[in-house]
Amino acid sequence: MKCYRCDNEAAYSRKYSGENLCSKCFSSSIIRKTAKTISKFKMIKNGDLVCVAVSGGKDSLALLHILDKMSKTHNFQIKVITIDEGIPGYRNEALEIIKSFCSELKIEHKIFSYKELFELTIEEALQIRENEKMSSCSICGTFRRRAMDHAAKEVGANVIATAHNLDDTLQTFLINMTSGDTTKIGWMDPDTSEKTLRKIKPFCEIYESEIVFYAFTNKIPFQTEPCPYMNEGIRTEIREFLNSLENKHAGIKNNLYNSVLRISQNLRIASFKETNSCENCGNDCTGKICSVCKIVLKLKANHS
Ligand SMILES: [Zn+2]
Ligand SMILES: [Zn+2]
Repeated sequence: MKCYRCDNEAAYSRKYSGENLCSKCFSSSIIRKTAKTISKFKMIKNGDLVCVAVSGGKDSLALLHILDKMSKTHNFQIKVITIDEGIPGYRNEALEIIKSFCSELKIEHKIFSYKELFELTIEEALQIRENEKMSSCSICGTFRRRAMDHAAKEVGANVIATAHNLDDTLQTFLINMTSGDTTKIGWMDPDTSEKTLRKIKPFCEIYESEIVFYAFTNKIPFQTEPCPYMNEGIRTEIREFLNSLENKHAGIKNNLYNSVLRISQNLRIASFKETNSCENCGNDCTGKICSVCKIVLKLKANHS
């Protein structure tokens, strides 16, 4: 089978569009699509310092691989940050991979840990949580967002790039829908160009399966061991549900993504609220105390 765009042998067949692509044409299609997303949502501007949050998984290393290429032909710089949650034995392999990948690309890399920021590792936080209702991923995600804000400030970046892909976006949307949290759906709008610290997701329009193939075909090394807490919460079930739909109805994820985009854009405009600063830490929040401080204070209260 020949590539749809050149004379090479095809290596990937994109079911939702019917294209068969060779490895080279496939990779350039992913780079082009990422560039298109970046410009569509004005994610990166001239002179930006972008900190790329790299966990050591395939998505974040593929994102780093692509942003590094782009930074050489465009007017922006990148630095790499890694958040260490403090899960014994889990982060070590990833840190080694990231370190050698960054030194190969000659990019500055810095590690920030939950322990130094919150005086709690995720392991400790999970041990002292009151009940299983606070899922590990929701505690971890809240901590991670705050840790990334801090890291961006430390390295002097005005943009944080994370590797959330189209599948992650759909899962988050359905999680917010099933829990009735429509405010959070408004926050999913990818356009953050008005903010001083912009959080961008350049892979938000790319299927996870295509990022896997990009990493594989570009021989990007990545951590394969999954997080030991991954199966808590409903995300895994939703992920499998969406994959089984896509198998039978190729392209259905793209359709759902377009709906999520329109809904989140409308909701953001409709639910725009004034932000306050947290009484405890001074960060932006919608109530008196921000969500991070709420969790940290609650966990510490349970503990004492
Ligand atoms: Zn080709
Ligand atoms: Zn706070």
